[in-house]
Amino acid sequence: RVPCARSAAMAAPPEEPLAREAALLAVDAALLAGVLMRTQEEPGASQVVSYAPFTLLPSAVPSALFEQAYAVQQDFNLLVDAISQNKEFLERTLASTIKVDDFTARLFRIYTQVLEEGLAQSVFLGINRSDYMFDCGVDGTPALKQIEINTIAASFGGLTSRTLAVHRQVLKMLGRTEEASRLLPNNPAQGLALGIAKAWELYGSQSLVTLLLSYRNIRVIRKQFRDVFEKGSLDDNWEARLLLERSRAVKCPDIATQLAGTKKVQQELTRPGTLEKLLPGRAASVARIRATFTGLYSLDLGEEGDKMAAKAIADPDRFVLKPQREGGGNNLYGEELRHVLEKIKDSPERTSYILMDKIKPRPSKNYLLRPHTPLKVSECISELGIFGVYVRQGKELVLNESAGHLLRTKAIEHADGGVAAGVAVLDTPYLV
Ligand code: ADP
Ligand code: MG
Ligand code: MG
Repeated sequence: RVPCARSAAMAAPPEEPLAREAALLAVDAALLAGVLMRTQEEPGASQVVSYAPFTLLPSAVPSALFEQAYAVQQDFNLLVDAISQNKEFLERTLASTIKVDDFTARLFRIYTQVLEEGLAQSVFLGINRSDYMFDCGVDGTPALKQIEINTIAASFGGLTSRTLAVHRQVLKMLGRTEEASRLLPNNPAQGLALGIAKAWELYGSQSLVTLLLSYRNIRVIRKQFRDVFEKGSLDDNWEARLLLERSRAVKCPDIATQLAGTKKVQQELTRPGTLEKLLPGRAASVARIRATFTGLYSLDLGEEGDKMAAKAIADPDRFVLKPQREGGGNNLYGEELRHVLEKIKDSPERTSYILMDKIKPRPSKNYLLRPHTPLKVSECISELGIFGVYVRQGKELVLNESAGHLLRTKAIEHADGGVAAGVAVLDTPYLV
């Protein structure tokens, strides 16, 4: 393993005016390659797009940790799939959360109802993305630590493979052949499409015959949630979700898998013995999964939760406070964490959150390119995501693969937030 200190292969970013010249080329390359996003001003308009934000340069990732992240992805697919089929575990784990968190409670009601009625669905498609940061421990050795696993995670699959082409061009222009030689092929969209194709094929024929190229012939239609149910109030959205969930259609994720991706489930997985129970007879998988865990703590009412709430209030910079939400920008840090926890520390509301050790990666310098933003060097940290895809027919797992990676980078002054939230930008790893 390379130490957290900068390695020889990590050259400094260029200075002005070279950086400006490279940024112009990079933005043009991004527009040409289709690294595009709708604008904040006109999010509904397809005729106004700009480039999706990205780093000028790819970022160094320790190769051992990169390989470790790939090696554990099929284990995580197995785990998520096992949780989604374990009613007893989901019920027990989410019992306290659904008493206070309305969002999770509504999902859980739909889950219970479709189980009671009997599942119509027999083919299951999972698309996961397990996200990590490289924690610099006390001894200065970086370690792969999971931030979270997302079970609604197909976005960026396409954009990230296009970003690779942009970074290749930038490195070429700058004459950085060493970094260029350490870039890796990456095409998550293809892997995810193959999963969709497999599920489609099983749904249609109910047979195990593989028609690998048939995905080219799948007719695709695009519907927004509100189209499923004609009216448009919030309650109708839940009706629409119930309607979908009752159908035989292959949902991704189905309701059980969405619940498996909650932060509360993530926290319960770290309890001694839990992984072993969920994945019996799979000691190697359990060990690989557990190696990526950092400290996660329940804030349920009781002694254990009281102790952790007090610890976090005393030392908020050691922790992250997370509600049961997705999409970035929801977590609490530092003084805000302290303030909120002090307010709710004796109330049941506390149980809608979980507490997590804060991961502290070593920052590196880069330029973050985004529309309407002046060029400047930022101290940055990166988050590596590995895509996983699996298909299950009845009880039989017929496909279980990793499908590529995603690197997102943000300036250290932002504690939270993804690309859509306007904080992180697309990046490409090169191995060191
Ligand atoms: P979401 O589902 O909203 O993406 P995450 O758990 O991924 O929630 O948290 C959002 C962001 O907050 C992450 O992308 C990361 O930048 C930061 N973050 C989350 N957990 C930690 C942690 N334990 N240590 C450091 N940063 C974290
Ligand atoms: Mg998430
Ligand atoms: Mg996340």
